[in-house]
Amino acid sequence: METIPHFIGGQRVAGRSGRGAPVYDPATGAQTAEVALADVDEVDAAVRVAGEAFTSWSQASLSARSRVLFAFRALVHAHLDELARVVAAEHGKVLSDARGEVQRGLEVVEFACGLGHLLKGGYSDQVSSGVDVYSLREPLGVVAGITPFNFPVMVPMWMHPVAIACGNSFVLKPSERDPSASLRVAELWAEAGLPAGVFNVVNGDRAAVEALCDHPGVAAISFVGSTPIARAVHARATAAGKRVQALGGAKNHAVVLPDADPDFAADHLVAAAFGSAGERCMAISAAVAVGARGDDLVEIVAKKGAAVRVGPGRDEASEMGPVITAEARDRIVAAIGHSTEQGAHLALDGRGIVVPGHEDGFFVGPTVVDAVTPQMDVYRQEIFGPVLSVLRAGDVDEAIALVNANPYGNGTAVFTNSGETARRFVRGVSVGMVGVNVPIPVPVAHYSFGGWKDSLFGEHHIHGPEGVAFYTRAKVVTARWPSPRAASAASYHFPTGQ
Ligand code: NAD
Repeated sequence: METIPHFIGGQRVAGRSGRGAPVYDPATGAQTAEVALADVDEVDAAVRVAGEAFTSWSQASLSARSRVLFAFRALVHAHLDELARVVAAEHGKVLSDARGEVQRGLEVVEFACGLGHLLKGGYSDQVSSGVDVYSLREPLGVVAGITPFNFPVMVPMWMHPVAIACGNSFVLKPSERDPSASLRVAELWAEAGLPAGVFNVVNGDRAAVEALCDHPGVAAISFVGSTPIARAVHARATAAGKRVQALGGAKNHAVVLPDADPDFAADHLVAAAFGSAGERCMAISAAVAVGARGDDLVEIVAKKGAAVRVGPGRDEASEMGPVITAEARDRIVAAIGHSTEQGAHLALDGRGIVVPGHEDGFFVGPTVVDAVTPQMDVYRQEIFGPVLSVLRAGDVDEAIALVNANPYGNGTAVFTNSGETARRFVRGVSVGMVGVNVPIPVPVAHYSFGGWKDSLFGEHHIHGPEGVAFYTRAKVVTARWPSPRAASAASYHFPTGQ
């Protein structure tokens, strides 16, 4: 069986730790490979190589860096289908969805291609007599990315194109559940002309993550994953003196107001709850029906949910694939059962689904849990599966209060035909990304992505302008070029403009 290696210094490097983890095809349940799990020494080797590469990459001209970014953009575009197939094979999501994630990652590469513009500083002429001031943004050094299983191409691409465009070198620790796409991306960087060592992939688990958090040669960490690990990584890496952005989990609410078109809202709820088997940090996992039409909405959503075609991701006819592991399936199935014990009502039950020919796959069908209250575990926990909880609220203010009482603040959406109500909702919610009749409001690449509260630890959102700020630090220069004929104006008072 294949052992998936690391990618360090421009080439694939076999693991030396002797530890590995299984990688599965979630559609069949069969193990397809083993991935090497790095130890402290292997992480150290990657960071050192990246540190050496930083010395010259950080000094490469903006045009030299731009050329590499544009070449990388062309290669990702040319290999979009191939990358999508790699994602579908190890993650399980359907091919159209996998293509979509590569496309959204590509958009960040396109943003980073504008590095000449993004890294422009400011200049103030004559702030004092004969004195000018200008500002620069300089790269940090070696930066690391630690990423989750659910977007094996897109989430790393929120990070490395921007970090590398800014002149940093990068060590990626992808999810051990679906690591292959990152190795292919590393090869594309090399083919694009990126010098060896600027982009590295270290496969691993907790040991590799902690080694990156502790390593004195790593200047900054971008983390995306679940809230408990985001919190721990943020605490550990900031204690080691690093700049950290750690994006965590979510419970995203869609609030459906009585004036919304019920068919439009239901179609979008179903796609946002069950797309990618609910394994999106921006998936809608809680619908809040406002007013008296909640029962009608549940009926339409359950009917549309039952019609979702569940099957292997590589089958173009499938609309929803399996979840990532047998453990995830069992956890989700248990959470559905527990919700009924706590008084919820199953309007659609996806437990026990059988996909012909894929009986051992990790499938859970679309599930709609009605009559959910904020006290129930199915609402309090991030289920991260195809489970939509439905709650009720009397009016929009009650719905806003419900959204704001939740500890997460990643994304939310409102369905309404009233501009005034939508505006009230947008201004009232304590959430980082808001959709108005858009259920999954993932910002385009030239804006930044990030949640509030337990969905993000650190000051910066990811990619877009905040990504550039995160991966650079400011330098401000105050300069004077005195004429040899001028008398020295040195004085002992604190300098002020003259
Ligand atoms: P995870 O937290 O289990 O893993 C994320 C990364 O942390 C992986 O690289 C993993 O190897 C590593 N890791 C796991 N356990 C660790 C430990 N004990 N110590 C140190 N590192 C550890 O998350 P996941 O299951 O891969 O991904 C799903 C989660 O990611 C969900 O909670 C989802 O909401 C979240 N997510 C958030 C965003 C966002 O933008 N906020 C985006 C995608 C996914």
